[in-house]
Amino acid sequence: MEENELYRKWMRLVENLEREGIIKSEKVKRAFLRVPRYKFVPERYKEYAHVDEPLPIPAGQTISAPHMVAIMFELAELEEGMNVLEVGTGSGWNAALIYELVKRDVYTIERIPELVEFARRNLERAGYKNKVHVILGDGTKGFPPKAPYDRIIVTAGAPKIPEPLIEQLKVGGKMLIPVGSYHLWQELLEVIKISEDNKIKIKNHGGVAFVPLVGEYGWRE
Ligand code: SAM
Repeated sequence: MEENELYRKWMRLVENLEREGIIKSEKVKRAFLRVPRYKFVPERYKEYAHVDEPLPIPAGQTISAPHMVAIMFELAELEEGMNVLEVGTGSGWNAALIYELVKRDVYTIERIPELVEFARRNLERAGYKNKVHVILGDGTKGFPPKAPYDRIIVTAGAPKIPEPLIEQLKVGGKMLIPVGSYHLWQELLEVIKISEDNKIKIKNHGGVAFVPLVGEYGWRE
């Protein structure tokens, strides 16, 4: 499929998400239009990138469905200048979207080396080489060198909220994280840090389905 045709289909999906009330803000819509998902999926799935479902990426992982990403980004309330950590780089798509919303360097951490390479390649081709920094590591431990963060966005399902991620949030900062069972069912939690001694407030945004967050403070391998 030609790039024009891919983009036309992508625009139509974004407009549908807006019509359904899933994309609510102009800034999230603008970011989605600037970073089409087809630039971040393996070649053979490009023609399905506008379908509102997760798609396979290397190493048996997935790129999330557009509606899921839109829900998380509306809840995240990202603003220009915010310091953001993403846990679970996958394809690099979400990290590029984050960049379009905060307009400053974004840090994203991935545990599978093959996906670090995949994401770096996608990000370079899409023009985010020195804007999004992909780190190989266990994101359940966060990324202390750039902490504290205004926002932490976790795109894999955890058994519980990893303590290091709470520690690395600013007071008043917010984390979005799916928490629940190993496969197919978690609840999307919005976690707000309310004091220096790591007290948090939690809002539950209901059922979601993510691949597992595997690491020291997540599911054990
Ligand atoms: N945000 C991604 C994107 O834009 O394509 C999709 C993320 S995919 C649903 C979840 C990712 O989390 C997988 O790539 C998986 O390898 C990664 N992951 C799981 N446990 C992790 C951990 N402890 N640290 C970093 N990444 C992890």
